[in-house]
Amino acid sequence: MTEAEWRPAIAILGAGIGGLAVAIGLMKRGVPVTIFEATETYSPLGAGIGLGPNSLDAMDLLDSRFRAEYDTVKTGNEKPEFLHCIFDALYAEEGFGEKRGWTRGIIGAPYFTRSSAHRKELLQIMERFIPEETIVFGKRARNIYQKQGKAAIEFYDGDVRTFDAVVGCDGVRGLSRQVVLGDIAPKHVPPAYCGIYSYRGIIPMNKAKAIFGRHAGDAKWFMAKGKGAVLYPITKGREANFIFFITDNDGRAHGNITERCTKQEMLEDLKGFDSRLLQLLDYAKPLRWPIMHHLETPTYFRGRVCLLGDVAHASSPHQAAGAGQALEDAVILSHLLTLVKSPDQIEAALQVYDTVRRPRAQKVVQTSYEAGVMYMWSSPEIGDDMNKIMENANQRLHWIWQHDLKTDINDAEYKFLKLVSE
Ligand SMILES: Cc1cc2nc3c(=O)[nH]c(=O)nc-3n(C[C@H](O)[C@H](O)[C@H](O)COP(=O)(O)OP(=O)(O)OC[C@H]3O[C@@H](n4cnc5c(N)ncnc54)[C@H](O)[C@@H]3O)c2cc1C
Repeated sequence: MTEAEWRPAIAILGAGIGGLAVAIGLMKRGVPVTIFEATETYSPLGAGIGLGPNSLDAMDLLDSRFRAEYDTVKTGNEKPEFLHCIFDALYAEEGFGEKRGWTRGIIGAPYFTRSSAHRKELLQIMERFIPEETIVFGKRARNIYQKQGKAAIEFYDGDVRTFDAVVGCDGVRGLSRQVVLGDIAPKHVPPAYCGIYSYRGIIPMNKAKAIFGRHAGDAKWFMAKGKGAVLYPITKGREANFIFFITDNDGRAHGNITERCTKQEMLEDLKGFDSRLLQLLDYAKPLRWPIMHHLETPTYFRGRVCLLGDVAHASSPHQAAGAGQALEDAVILSHLLTLVKSPDQIEAALQVYDTVRRPRAQKVVQTSYEAGVMYMWSSPEIGDDMNKIMENANQRLHWIWQHDLKTDINDAEYKFLKLVSE
């Protein structure tokens, strides 16, 4: 094989949005991949995933057909006055703020068009790009180690497979995080609890309309002190996704595990909410989900192993930006791995990936947490001043949405070529 023909053999650990995105980007560019997924099938779990303009650009850059497929499942707001609005902020109290004269709190931008998808539908369109022979299900990795200039994955079934590089896309508690950070920053391996837990569910849109009337069909954020609720359309408006957020003042969520809970406990948490919001609890799963994040990640790579998606930068969902960061990771990494022309250049590619992606992705994690605090009226400077919340919210998202990914690609390429020529 000539040098020009050589392509690195890449293993991808995990077939979530991150793993499939980087697989799509690499396959489009002729780089061979093998995906290992612990579960027996693609996971249909999860609910609404919000995707801003930066995420749509990332899809285009990975493979323009991906964006075209997404356009067939994406769901926006229903009423024209909310098309460019990520959320309409209202009060969670009885009357949604009308008694105070508050009728609308638009958070958005003229260039922004709201778009979200059910996680299941997003995965389904991504699966179409993955040939059957490229993915191995029921294959859970137990360890990854560097071996003679390569990366070896050891699986629970005893199998060991060796690749030029391993891309860990194994989610918020993924093993690859231990592999990359275990020796140098062990305290940053486990995800941290944000101190916020959630109750979630999906309601058929006709039921949501019966309860909420004109407030159904468009994305809403209902705010209160230390609490909140979001409601937004998914599945082309056939259903609405909802999430309640509660600041964990009493250590109720015990830090990091999803626990069963009763409807009574949920009702106690939501005391003071408009009775229409409480009716959503009939459709909520009886589970208390703690919100976890990776606030600090000192590096996204070690040797031939790198981190992508939630395992690198799991984020609280308050800016609806987490999955988009996985797509951006995939754009930069797939471009860099395409530039690699020999085995000794792989670490340079992973190093540049870390340099380009980490500052931005970690800033998304940090600011998403801050946004959550503010939306729950717990920011010391802003408190419950809804006008100030609107002002802040309408300024805070532009750097995420308007990011120029092509400049990142050029920057990454420049840095990589410089590094390998030194
Ligand atoms: C069940 C679930 C529900 C979610 N719900 C929402 C939601 O409602 N809204 C939202 O905005 N975001 C949600 N997310 C998060 C969102 O999907 C992620 O931010 C984003 O998609 C990035 O995903 P990822 O691919 O990095 O990780 P994930 O989606 O977590 O995928 C990781 C994959 O790695 C596999 N895996 C883990 N360990 C191993 C191993 N040792 N060997 C092999 N495979 C392994 C897992 O089975 C999984 O398929 C959800 C994620 C999950 C897993």
